[in-house]
Amino acid sequence: MTTRRKFLQQTALAGAGLFVSAPSLANIFSPNSNLHVVIMGAGLAGLSAAYKLKQKGFKVTVLESQKRVGGRVFSHNIQPDLVIELGGEWVGNSHTRLQELCGEFNLELENNQFDTHLIYKDEYFPAGKWNYSENWNKKFDQIIKEYENFSDADKLALDQYDWWRFLINKGCEGRDLDIRELLDSTDFGESIRHVSAFAALAEYAESSEKNEMDLKIKGGNKMLAEKLADAIGRENILFDHKVSRVKQTDKVSVVCTNGKSFTADKVVCALPTFAMSKIDWQPGLPENKAKAIQELQYARINKRAILFNERFWKVENFDLITDEMPHYFYHATKNQKAKEGVLISYTIGEKAAVAANRTHDRYQKELETTLSPHFGKLDHLVKDQLNYYWGADERTMGAYALYGIGQWFTVKPILAEPFEHIHFAGEHIADWQGFMEGAINTGEDAADAIG
Ligand SMILES: Cc1cc2nc3c(=O)[nH]c(=O)nc-3n(C[C@H](O)[C@H](O)[C@H](O)COP(=O)(O)OP(=O)(O)OC[C@H]3O[C@@H](n4cnc5c(N)ncnc54)[C@H](O)[C@@H]3O)c2cc1C
Repeated sequence: MTTRRKFLQQTALAGAGLFVSAPSLANIFSPNSNLHVVIMGAGLAGLSAAYKLKQKGFKVTVLESQKRVGGRVFSHNIQPDLVIELGGEWVGNSHTRLQELCGEFNLELENNQFDTHLIYKDEYFPAGKWNYSENWNKKFDQIIKEYENFSDADKLALDQYDWWRFLINKGCEGRDLDIRELLDSTDFGESIRHVSAFAALAEYAESSEKNEMDLKIKGGNKMLAEKLADAIGRENILFDHKVSRVKQTDKVSVVCTNGKSFTADKVVCALPTFAMSKIDWQPGLPENKAKAIQELQYARINKRAILFNERFWKVENFDLITDEMPHYFYHATKNQKAKEGVLISYTIGEKAAVAANRTHDRYQKELETTLSPHFGKLDHLVKDQLNYYWGADERTMGAYALYGIGQWFTVKPILAEPFEHIHFAGEHIADWQGFMEGAINTGEDAADAIG
């Protein structure tokens, strides 16, 4: 089967130079040359680029606007013995590069799979006691099989409409359609009416059985970012350095809001598109790239972590999809040893924007309304709450990129094109788009393109 990664490369190459790769410097300079590369952003894409470039012998400087590495990998200790993820959560079984890096840095990956419970139309169905209709399950298996034989033209055609329309056209209806919308929208962060049918089908057809919700790094996913930072050398990573201007001549000058400026031979821009749009590019970005940056939306996701005095849900592998406001719950402290436990209420799209503005008291009432009819009174068990709304994150204004109708094969390759001395990286241009794995892949690809 042609995977998204391979297919994107093929179409890009065939597509009238859509993907104009910069000439590799490896041919010009020795791998141990002392060229200076500035990397903008210390998320997984920027860190992976810096790590690989350093291994190749380049001098690297990573400029990061925040006071920490990891970016959208944002592990947080809600109490000393309990760590939760406010950003990237699951490592997929198919995410081989991330797993390799964990091996290299002696990080342990733990099982983080769940068996999903359901609340639908006020009725509660424990895991294993609900399913799609037999008819739809059969059809969906068939759809996934058919994808293996899709031609490139079939894939391009799929990108012309949305995943909700695709499901309807394939005969998904009623309760099956309602539940697919609830579940699939958690993957994309917005209603599936906004998601390219190609992006969705490719993800489901190429993913592991649990749709890449398989593992997580023991102690928090940020451990990988920290290990990468150690390997790059902490002295090469500068916090509180927000890039505001990038000026290219025969070299590149990168200027930060704190007045510091850096001269580099090459630059890796590993920033989300919203952050890119705030930079003064001299000369200006090519028109098609500037337009692509304006066109791409990011999904609104809200994570509300609720710390309970005890794990009333009983089983460690608990998650729950609901047709109510809190949308999706999962046990965010699975197998972490403590009496307390955290459920994260994960909302998307409009619901996320509403959830973000709720006070703790009001949200507790939403919890009671949704959960108490099935799990008993809970308010006396709530110990604390914490909310992070990605839709208002000043760097991304969303959780991850959302490829809408007709954008996968047009907007994405343009965003990936290098511009003179600048190479781009980040989850938004990855084949594993929306994943930590994708961020790492693009960072390493940018490093390889440089040398
Ligand atoms: C809620 C949520 C859930 C997710 N769930 C999963 C999941 O389950 N599994 C999974 O694999 N992935 C998941 N992801 C996606 C994953 O976290 C991202 O794909 C990945 O971390 C993105 O890495 P990046 O390096 O491309 O970008 P980022 O991590 O955003 O890195 C960009 C960096 O640039 C910095 N920056 C921004 N502007 C400037 C500037 N002007 N100057 C200098 N620095 C700047 C930022 O502070 C940031 O550190 C999730 C993300 C979110 C938000």
